Amino acid sequence: MAAPTPRPGILDIKPYVAGGSSAPGAAKVYKLSSNESALGASPKAIEAYKVASETLHLYPDGSAHALREKIAETFRLDANNIVCGSGSDEILQLLTKAYVGEGDNIIQTEHGFLVYALAAKSCGAEPRFAKEKHLATDVDAILELVDDRTRIVFVANPNNPTGTYVPDSALRRLREELRDDILLVIDAAYAEYMDEPDYDSGAAMVEDFNNVVMTRTFSKIYGLGGMRLGWGYCPATIADVLNRIRGPFNVNTAALAAGAAALDDKEFLSKNRNFNREERDWLAQQLDGLGLDFVPSFGNFILVKFPDAPGLNADDIQAYLKSEGVIVREMGPYKLGEYLRISIGDKEGNRKLIELLEKKFR
Ligand SMILES: *Cc1c(COP(=O)(O)O)cnc(C)c1O
Repeated sequence: MAAPTPRPGILDIKPYVAGGSSAPGAAKVYKLSSNESALGASPKAIEAYKVASETLHLYPDGSAHALREKIAETFRLDANNIVCGSGSDEILQLLTKAYVGEGDNIIQTEHGFLVYALAAKSCGAEPRFAKEKHLATDVDAILELVDDRTRIVFVANPNNPTGTYVPDSALRRLREELRDDILLVIDAAYAEYMDEPDYDSGAAMVEDFNNVVMTRTFSKIYGLGGMRLGWGYCPATIADVLNRIRGPFNVNTAALAAGAAALDDKEFLSKNRNFNREERDWLAQQLDGLGLDFVPSFGNFILVKFPDAPGLNADDIQAYLKSEGVIVREMGPYKLGEYLRISIGDKEGNRKLIELLEKKFR
C-alpha cells in the first residue's frame, strides 16, 4: 500500500537532542546541560506571566506590537524591522524556509550550532561545514565553500558550543566578500554576556546592508527558555517575508508579557551578567588547577576537554557526573567527542561539579 512520503532530506535528519534533564538515583539534580539561566527568570517576568494568566482565553496580539516597541526602545532599533518568534529557533527555521530550497546549500561552521543544519535538511538543502581556526569561525574557510547554490551563511557569535567569538570587523569582511544575494544570519544568542570592545551583536550590520539578519533570544540571560521567545532584526524586505510565512499568532500571550517585563528588569539583567562572569572565572580557575584544558568562553557555559583515557574520557566523566546528579552535555554531534559542554550553574551546582572532578583529577 502506498504511504505518504516526506520531501527529500527529511528522513536524513537526526532529531535534535536537547540537554539531558534527569539523573536517576541522584539525591539532587544539577542541570548544567542546556545553558539555562543559573538565577532563574526575572521576578518581574514571573509576575507578568501570572498577570497574563487572567487573559488566557484571548488570542495574543499577533503583531507583537508592544514587545517589538520595547525591544526597539531597549536596543535602539526600528520596531518595524523586528520579527518575534517562538524562540529564535523559529526565526532561524522561517529564514531557511523562505530562502533555501531543494538542491541549495547553507554554510555554517564546523562546530557551529546544529539547528542551522537541521533547518537546511528539512528544506531539502545541503548543510556545509566550514573548518574553524582554534575552534573559532574562520571567514576564509566559509568563503571557500560558497558556490552558486549557496543561499544562507549562519554564524553564531559567540558560538555555542565552543564559546568563542569573532570581532565585528571579521563579520564585516565576510559580508563584503559574500555575494549580495546570499543572506548572512548572525545568531547573537549570547550577546548580552559580551562586553569586548571589538564585538558587536550584528544590529549595526543589519542597518548597513540589505542582506544581513541578526537573531536574539530570551532563553539565555533573561531566563525564559520555557516561554519560547526570540526575535530577528531584519532589513524591511526580509521582515516582510517572515511576516508572510509565520503563524499569525506565533508568540503566545504569556511570552509576550514575560519578555517585555524581562527587558524592563535591568537589575536582574546586570545581576545575571555579573554572576555569570564571576562564576565562569571561578570555574576556569578551578579547571586550570585540575590540569583540565578548556576553551575560554564568552557565553554562560564552558567547553572542557577530557583526556583520552578509560575512566577519565568525556563519555566516562559524563556518566560519572550524571550518576552523582550533575548533568552536562555530550559533544559527539558537534564533532567534539573529547569535550563536554558545561553550563554555568548556580553556586551550589558549580561547587558540586568541581568537587566531583577533584575526585578524578587531583
Ligand atoms: C540557545 C541558543 C539559541 C536560542 O534558541 P531559542 O530557540 O531562542 O531558545 C539560539 N542560538 C544559539 C547559538 C543558542 O545557543
